[in-house]
Amino acid sequence: MDHKRRLQNLRESFSSRKLDAMLVSHSPNVRYLCGFTGSAGALVVDENGAAFFTDGRYGDQARNQVQGARIRIARKSPLLAAAEWLADQAKRHGGKHLRRLGYEADHLSVAERDRLAAALPSWFRLKPTSGTVEALRMIKDNDELSLIRAAVKLGASLFESALQTIRAGVKEMEVAAQMEFCARRKGAEAMSFETIIASGPRSAQPHGRASDHAIPGDGFVVCDFGVILTGYCSDQTRTLFVGQPSAEMRRGYEAVREAQQAALNAAGPGVAVGEVDAAARKLLRQNGLAKYFTHSTGHGVGLEIHEAPRVATGQTEVLRPGMVITIEPGIYVPGQWGVRIEDMIVINDRGCEVLTPTTKELLTI
Ligand code: ZN
Ligand code: ZN
Repeated sequence: MDHKRRLQNLRESFSSRKLDAMLVSHSPNVRYLCGFTGSAGALVVDENGAAFFTDGRYGDQARNQVQGARIRIARKSPLLAAAEWLADQAKRHGGKHLRRLGYEADHLSVAERDRLAAALPSWFRLKPTSGTVEALRMIKDNDELSLIRAAVKLGASLFESALQTIRAGVKEMEVAAQMEFCARRKGAEAMSFETIIASGPRSAQPHGRASDHAIPGDGFVVCDFGVILTGYCSDQTRTLFVGQPSAEMRRGYEAVREAQQAALNAAGPGVAVGEVDAAARKLLRQNGLAKYFTHSTGHGVGLEIHEAPRVATGQTEVLRPGMVITIEPGIYVPGQWGVRIEDMIVINDRGCEVLTPTTKELLTI
């Protein structure tokens, strides 16, 4: 991992954001910039270098993992240690070069921000920033892409155990348990979110976490699942049918599949994410189903399961090579049935590459 390059990219964004330094406390951002995977850490990046703060529990781990930053083990919270170090640095250097300190407004509580302000000399200007490191993280480098490919491959293999377990009368939770057991045995650190197994009328709930409901003998089963492998998340959805689908349900499935394909065809470099969303929605509108598509078309994936960009109506972020997003249209007929199909893709120079290998044919059990 080229952490020095990442830290340098962050520094290069300082002038446009009018910052002298940045305090990074959101753990996926800390991990991205310096490699530390623990939960208690803070990173100060200024024009000249970087300093990483953690507490005694993480000393060994920090020494093994942190790259591109000096390590300081604190007796207090890493955030306060960082503030005191900044105050000390400023005093030593006359206090002029470190006036404007950016902090991560989306990830710091109001109380933490207040404690930070109290620990710094009054002439420090604390500047709230939003999405600064996240903007860098949108474009995955080659190291990240190979980790993501491995996570997607492992994640996709769990669908096999879903297919073996899903039967009428089996509880949704048993299916999830089987998939999760399989994931851990294959080396996943965790699931990237709570496994969704939503069967029968529950398939109409876009986020129907696996429950203790038994899978009915006649209906869709939406399976949305992913793993975390070496820090990177996978995310995919497949919908299958137990029994024989009605003509209307089959048409619904095919419409979602075509909408998903339309979005895949639209995704490529230079295209605004809103246009990709519109491509899926247009297809469903032509089938009279747009009103049942109640969420956005996709999201970025990487160290976090939901990251920038949001692939949603009206969003203007433009796709660039190296971005990894999901394409996941779905329709949900309230109280009756639902279908969603989700792949992960990477944007390349020509268009996009679908990473998820699983078939999108309607499978029946
Ligand atoms: Zn998903
Ligand atoms: Zn997703």
